[in-house]
Amino acid sequence: MKKIISGILTLAVLVSMAGCSKTEQVNDSVDREVIYQVSLLQGLTFGDYHGSVSAGELKKKGDTGIGTFDGLNGELIMVDGVIYRAPGEGVVEEVKDEETIPFSNVTFFDADETWSIENVADFDALREILDAKVSEFGENRFYMIRIDGEFNSINARSEYAQEEPYEPLAKVLEHDQTFFDYENIKGTIVGLYCPPYMSDLNATGWHLHFVSEDRTKGGHVLNMNIKTANIGWDNTNGFEMLVPENEMFADFDLTIDQSEDIKKVETKVEE
Ligand SMILES: [Zn+2]
Repeated sequence: MKKIISGILTLAVLVSMAGCSKTEQVNDSVDREVIYQVSLLQGLTFGDYHGSVSAGELKKKGDTGIGTFDGLNGELIMVDGVIYRAPGEGVVEEVKDEETIPFSNVTFFDADETWSIENVADFDALREILDAKVSEFGENRFYMIRIDGEFNSINARSEYAQEEPYEPLAKVLEHDQTFFDYENIKGTIVGLYCPPYMSDLNATGWHLHFVSEDRTKGGHVLNMNIKTANIGWDNTNGFEMLVPENEMFADFDLTIDQSEDIKKVETKVEE
């Protein structure tokens, strides 16, 4: 018995020593079950497009996510650890690590569940499928999803880069938004679900970005028709947020309710 106990003690010491090694520390410091958010969407909608985190830094917080770039220079989509820009001009490009980001949500993607879907007519039909899963797991958690497949259509949008002084997002989208309608296209949608209590910090519900399989087309998803696809679903219980340091952000009155503006910038408003 004594021998067994000392054996266990030795093992425990070895484990804690291993915990001190450099590689272990790096691995320990990364919590894969955290949604990392740069700024508040409400800061972005007020017009704070100042990048506060580099693409290289963001990659330390996740390998999958959505967002935008300094100066509102296109829609950000991160897939398999690579950050892409879907610009207002249309052709997707890989982004350099030095480029900065004013707003984003990323996580390390580990699918807790995967399943396949087919013939999903539009965003509302997809939302019904996703929300059924939300009901199952609980509406007060965060979820990141990946939808890899073939799409009969994708309706996406992006926007042109802005120069200071920055206008509020809803205003920018009135004159500098571009729409892309893709047909018969393969690719990946990355989506984030934020719970209802996030309404002061982000958009609640689903927010989707798309990039084509050949990584040349993409944007913020307004609608889609799915032919056949696999959904990967990542339950994520942690939330970490970076509060920007720039003066523009510091002076906003973020108690002002922007829910109408948020709705306007997240969905396509018919003129
Ligand atoms: Zn978006």
